[in-house]
Order: sequence, then structure tokens, then C-alpha cells
Amino acid sequence: MTASIIDGKDYASRLRGKLKFAVTDLKERYKITPGLAVVLVGNDAASEIYVRNKGIQTKEAGMESFEYRLPEGTSEEDLLSKVEELNSDKSVNGILVQFPVPKHMEQQKIIEKILPSKDVDGLHPVNSGYLSSGLSGMVPCTPQGASMLIKDTLPSLSGLHAVIVGRSNLVGKPIAQLLLKENCTVTICHSRTKNLQATCLSADILVAAVGIPELIKEDWIKKDAIVIDVGINRQQAPEKGEGKTKLVGDVDFEGARKIAAAITPVPGGVGPMTIACLLLNTLMATCSQNNINFSEFKI
Ligand code: NAD
Repeated sequence: MTASIIDGKDYASRLRGKLKFAVTDLKERYKITPGLAVVLVGNDAASEIYVRNKGIQTKEAGMESFEYRLPEGTSEEDLLSKVEELNSDKSVNGILVQFPVPKHMEQQKIIEKILPSKDVDGLHPVNSGYLSSGLSGMVPCTPQGASMLIKDTLPSLSGLHAVIVGRSNLVGKPIAQLLLKENCTVTICHSRTKNLQATCLSADILVAAVGIPELIKEDWIKKDAIVIDVGINRQQAPEKGEGKTKLVGDVDFEGARKIAAAITPVPGGVGPMTIACLLLNTLMATCSQNNINFSEFKI
């Protein structure tokens, strides 16, 4: 038996469909259109693609998309002023500054400038504090998406051992908090962890968020585990033709699927969930800024 494939592309598309429906309802009943502002500094090719896709999907969901493209040489002060302007703009409910920003800027300063109520990336310390206190706030999009896929795959997570490989503020730490909230026993591993293989082998749920292609091998996986591969790594793919590349995850997919009960592919697993959850956060932010009960919308 090979593992079943957790289809994040399909889940994300259904979620975006529900959000579109909710946005129509919000517009009709409250005359409010959620607005998402995305700020891109410089011309990093990968960031350009992300920002373009965010804009397209925001509009498809019936939301207002505001895009600001600032030149590479923009000063940190000017970027902070832009964020301040968006903080006080009533038509903007969510703000996302596309990272990485150029090296002359301090990422944390920018994160902390965004109003926590408009921080749809969920990276402001106020929001990470809410998450680690088990309270509701803005949750970072990729871990939120990964957690939705896990909950959709397993009816109850209570008491299961979840091993997270990676401890970043963007992915590893928030997913650990989300799984702790579901009563998992959580172990966080990182670059200094000793005997990573043995720890991974004890995981009922294994989440890889490292950024090393196929680090996690077939013999690191417990039989019938759920494997969530957050990694996105671009590799040469001579089999597809000269100069061609392909995306691979942090898990050896072909090996892992012989052992696991279910696994996310790369691409098509966690990746598509990120923008869907960004739109979800934007709708939640819009509701909370307008004193509307989000649970009115059946998402
Ligand atoms: P990061 O570089 O900030 O963190 C990587 C983590 O891996 C660190 O905590 C580090 O301690 C750990 N690590 C490094 N080497 C290790 C090793 N040999 N063994 C164990 N742990 C090790 O990266 P990130 O932002 O958390 O992203 C992780 C991966 O997820 C990347 O491939 C990234 O592209 C991907 N990602 C995907 C999405 C998405 O699907 N939309 C979003 C964010 C990140």
C-alpha cells in the first residue's frame, strides 16, 4: 500500500470558493469590500511571481487588491512610512510586505510597524504571542494551511506525537503551536538536533520545514505516519531537458510514500494553501475591524 496523497491544491481551491461566497455576502449585507495591500521592494524574481499570484487570487475572491512596487533602493524609512500610511487607510484591511526585503532593511522593524489587526502574515510579536498563549489572532498563512490539511486527514490529533523539523518564526514555531493546541505532543527539531532520524521515526505526524531537498528519507518515517512537506526547493532537472528545473520538497517523496499513510506532494501540497489562508486572514481582519462576527460566514 502506498500513502494517500493529501491534495492541497484541491483543498485550497475549495477554501477560496467558500471565501468568495462569504465576500459576496459581506458586500451585500454590510457594503464592505475587504482590501489587501501587498508591498514589494525590489525585483526579486520569485517574489514577483508570488505577488502577482496573490493579486490575481485576491481579485478572484472578490476582494480589493492594492499593489505597491517600490524600487530596490527605497530607504527603510520610506518603507516604514508606506506601512504607516496603509495602517491608517480605512480601505486596507490587511497588509503584507513581501519578504525578503533588501539587505539594507531590518525585517523585524517592518514586521513590528504593521498594525497587529492588519498583520495578515501573522508575524507581529503581538500575534505570535496570542498564538503561543492559545488565544485567537492572526496566524501565519503557511502553517495555518498545513494544520488545516492535517486536521482534514486525521479526525483527532489528541495525544499524537508531532515532530516538526525547522524552528522558523514563519513556519516551524507556529505549526508547533497549532498542533499543541490540538493536544498533540510536540517535538521541535532544528539544525542542532542530535539524532534527527530517531526523532523523526517516532513521529505520528512529521512536518518538514527546513529548505534542504529530500533531507528526510524513507527510513526516517514511522509506518502509517502523516507526512507534511512544507519545503520548496528548486533543483536542476536534466531529465526534463537542458537547463530545466523542478520543485522538490524536504522529504524523499517516492521513498516516504511507501511507508506513510498520507503525504503532501511538492508541488500541490502545502504550497497552494498559503494564499488561500492569506485571503482567509484578510476576511477575518475585515470582520474584526468592523465588529462583525466572523462565524456568521460558514467557512
Ligand atoms: P528557514 O531557513 O527560516 O528555517 C529553516 C529551519 O530548518 C531552521 O529552523 C533550521 O534550524 C532548520 N534546519 C536547517 N538545517 C537543518 C538540518 N540539517 N536538520 C534539521 N533542521 C535544520 O526556512 P523557512 O522559512 O522556515 O522555510 C522552510 C522551507 O519551507 C523552505 O523550503 C521554504 O521554501 C518553505 N516554505 C514554503 C512555503 C509555502 O509553501 N508557501 C512558505 C514558507 C516556507
